[in-house]
Amino acid sequence: MKIRRSTIVVVVFLILLTACGCTAPPHDGGGKMGVAVSILPLAEFVERVGGDKVNVKVLIPSGASSHTYEPKPSEMVDAAGAQIFFKVGVGLEAFEDKLIQVNSNLSVVDTSAGLSLLEGSSEHDGALEYDPHVWLSVRNAGKMVENICSALSAADPENSDYYVQNREDYIAELDILDAELQASTSSMTVKKFIVFHPAWSYFARDYGLEQIAIEVEGKEPGPKDIMEVVETAKQNNIKVIFASPQFSTKTAEVISREIGGGVILIDPLEKNYTANMRYVAAEMSKASGEAQHE
Ligand SMILES: [Zn+2]
Repeated sequence: MKIRRSTIVVVVFLILLTACGCTAPPHDGGGKMGVAVSILPLAEFVERVGGDKVNVKVLIPSGASSHTYEPKPSEMVDAAGAQIFFKVGVGLEAFEDKLIQVNSNLSVVDTSAGLSLLEGSSEHDGALEYDPHVWLSVRNAGKMVENICSALSAADPENSDYYVQNREDYIAELDILDAELQASTSSMTVKKFIVFHPAWSYFARDYGLEQIAIEVEGKEPGPKDIMEVVETAKQNNIKVIFASPQFSTKTAEVISREIGGGVILIDPLEKNYTANMRYVAAEMSKASGEAQHE
């Protein structure tokens, strides 16, 4: 009885192994296409379209600034198994040339191709002609997801139907999200928000908001700049200063103390894109409400 049961277990185990393809050598990722991305939100987009057909390697870790971070040589080599490198583009990935030197077979896909870009503001890195934070617009995200789908389908035409179906499903989610954010931000009475690093220009454009940056040309502001922001906050009855985990919150805290307000962290590089965008819009609506009820 005992022997028989273990025999059945072994047989069932072998059937399962064969059925799920787990017998494939572990180093080839189970037949998945290796792809590399720069930032976590792009990993989310690529995974949502590529599903179980892709193995995504993220080059810029959570918490690092996407502007200054450069992957270590070992991480660059790690991308060697990748077929495609999905970049945000717009000059964000300063390490791109080095990555291609290390991985000459890598085909680079510019996910922001075809987007209508905003000019780089003087508050931001003066070196960039256009503002690179394109993914923080839900409408841009839809177009980026289309670009990702085209590239995956071209590289792996056999699974094209699968990628197209996933793209449609995710874009439907993004459309619902966009309508929700439109509704929640339209009720904001104070249409301005103050943020340390100006990553939210595309978000502001989509919903008719005005972003006020604390940073000056990508650097910490001087005392005069700080006083200007304090004045703007007081004039508009703004009580919340937004900051992000990639930068020091020190200046945001100084300003919030001056206006008797608080600091709220919003993360431009959070992986769970739809949940994060909902959170950001909700915090902005709440901040506007606090200004209104003062
Ligand atoms: Zn930035």
